[in-house]
Amino acid sequence: MSRNRAIDPADAKQQILAYCKRKGALAAGVADVAVLDRVAPPGHRPSDLMPKVKSVISLGVGGQTRGAWTVPAKAMGYFGSTESRAYTIAYGCAFFIEGRFGVPSIYCPPDVDNAFGTRVPLQSLKLHAEVAGIGARSLAGDILLHPEFGYMYFASVFTELKLPPDAPLAENPCPAPSCVKMYRKVGRTPCMKFCPVQCLSGTIDEQGNQVEMHYDMAACADLSEQYEALPMMLSRAAHADDADDVLLDPDNKLFWYKMSVGSGGLLAQCFECMRVCPIATQAPQADPILRLEAAERQAGDEQP
Ligand code: SF4
Ligand code: SF4
Repeated sequence: MSRNRAIDPADAKQQILAYCKRKGALAAGVADVAVLDRVAPPGHRPSDLMPKVKSVISLGVGGQTRGAWTVPAKAMGYFGSTESRAYTIAYGCAFFIEGRFGVPSIYCPPDVDNAFGTRVPLQSLKLHAEVAGIGARSLAGDILLHPEFGYMYFASVFTELKLPPDAPLAENPCPAPSCVKMYRKVGRTPCMKFCPVQCLSGTIDEQGNQVEMHYDMAACADLSEQYEALPMMLSRAAHADDADDVLLDPDNKLFWYKMSVGSGGLLAQCFECMRVCPIATQAPQADPILRLEAAERQAGDEQP
């Protein structure tokens, strides 16, 4: 307690966010716990996980390289994602806060709540990031997009240290002007049009802002969350006349291959909605090449 009183919250926040960025986060912020408590359902509020939590720190790391967007879907299915890097930074950040400020802190598990199956997380990392101002909900199934960094993966840290919160982004980069133009012509945006299972729909108003978004989570998960497709395949095999016809079908054999090599491609997205998204692929610092060019420009500007 006496240690807490000696801490300057603004300085501590600056040090914590600087740690996250030094370790590779593109963006980091502090979500207002009071807002999270109002929005998150009971059982999934920060205090349900850490009773004395005072602050939620959210950080985002970059998504794909530019080259990744050029490969065919069958290769992209093995790409997995960079989310494990975000989790590593969050783990380190919890240790950093305890080691530097002496206040209890945790890495927030990104995992599902075992009381509710595979589609209900313990905590919504997306909500943490949105309230911390490092992403806004898009028409692509609410995937968060950032005006500068495009598409990121998020991780959260909970701490009993009180830090000044940030505000959500003032403007949502989605839909991009080119998406609005396409919507006016064909009634769909690129993510809606090119989703292979057509699980996205929504409307845009006269000012070019989102009105509503619909996302068929089950259809998306069936294609891209293979921990859901796997039991279905086993169930079909159990009811088939010859189980080998199902288990050894070339499409299904892929599951056994991915499991045996520990492929990260068993989880997450098929990426087609993001491959065609102008924010995910063309935001000013959306990929390492754009970030390199931005850093070079900044270095040039700073030269005497
Ligand atoms: S990840 Fe694939 S299936 Fe899911 S919304 Fe995006 S394009 Fe559609
Ligand atoms: S393609 Fe991207 S920017 Fe365009 S509507 Fe979809 S998510 Fe939004």
